[in-house]
Amino acid sequence: MEAKILDGKALAQKIQAELKQQVEELTPKIGRPPGLAVLMVGDNPASAAYVRNKERACEKVGIASFGKHFPTETSQEELKQVIEELNKDDRVDGILVQLPLPDGLDSVSLLHQIDPDKDADGLHPVNLGRLVRGEPGLRSCTPAGVMRLMEEYQIPLRGKKAVVVGRSILVGKPLALMLLAADATVTIAHSRSQNLGEITRDADILVAAAGRKDLITADMVKPEAIVIDVGINKVTDEAGNSRLVGDVNFDAVKTVAGYITPVPGGIGPMTVALLLANTVWSYSQKK
Ligand code: NDP
Repeated sequence: MEAKILDGKALAQKIQAELKQQVEELTPKIGRPPGLAVLMVGDNPASAAYVRNKERACEKVGIASFGKHFPTETSQEELKQVIEELNKDDRVDGILVQLPLPDGLDSVSLLHQIDPDKDADGLHPVNLGRLVRGEPGLRSCTPAGVMRLMEEYQIPLRGKKAVVVGRSILVGKPLALMLLAADATVTIAHSRSQNLGEITRDADILVAAAGRKDLITADMVKPEAIVIDVGINKVTDEAGNSRLVGDVNFDAVKTVAGYITPVPGGIGPMTVALLLANTVWSYSQKK
């Protein structure tokens, strides 16, 4: 039997519709719409597409965009000042710096500059600390999207073995903490892990977040496992046409897994939905 699809695209649309309603209710009370500022530096085409996507999603939900696009040669000091102004700007509830930044700019120090209560990406050390402590706070969007998608499909997590492949501060580490908070028994694998297949075959819930096409093959998956593919990899065929694939060999793994996320249409749209949810959450704290 084939795996059931965890439809991130459909759930993202549902979340956006709910957020739109929440924004409509809150706007008269707060006296202004929510605001999100996305800072982009340079001309990375993939980043530009992501930013456009985020701004379009904001518009649908009724969030005002305060996007700013800077040339590649913008200095660290200029960006720091922009963030300080946005921190003080009462119309702005969320600030995010689109990564990667051009060489020579230090993204970590900029991230530290953002007011933790406006940290729409949930990556400021204060918010990561809140996650570690289990306190309420802004959560990193991609891992929060993974958790929300599993919640929607009522995937049981308590006592289950979860394996996260990838240990980045953006995805792997915060996701492992969220799974732990949901009472899963969590293993984190990475590029130095030995016998990856042995580790992943043990997983009731397997999350791939490595950025390596075809990393997860059918023989690495336990029958009926929940397989979540966070990876986004661009592949170009001989004719020069490119498309996006995940880290999981979808066609083979779907014959083994119980549930699986597609790429595209899985965690990508969930990430955007959770970014909007974070912005609306910060906004709702002001009522
Ligand atoms: P990073 O490159 O920061 O981290 C990748 C992680 O995967 C590292 O921990 C690395 O290990 C590990 N890894 C790499 N190769 C292997 C391997 N062969 N076996 C086991 N582990 C491996 O990437 P991100 O965490 O930022 O992103 C991961 C993927 O998710 C990317 O494809 C990215 O595009 C995608 N992504 C998708 C999002 C979405 O919205 N769907 C949002 C964010 C990211 P080590 O630490 O040892 O180097």
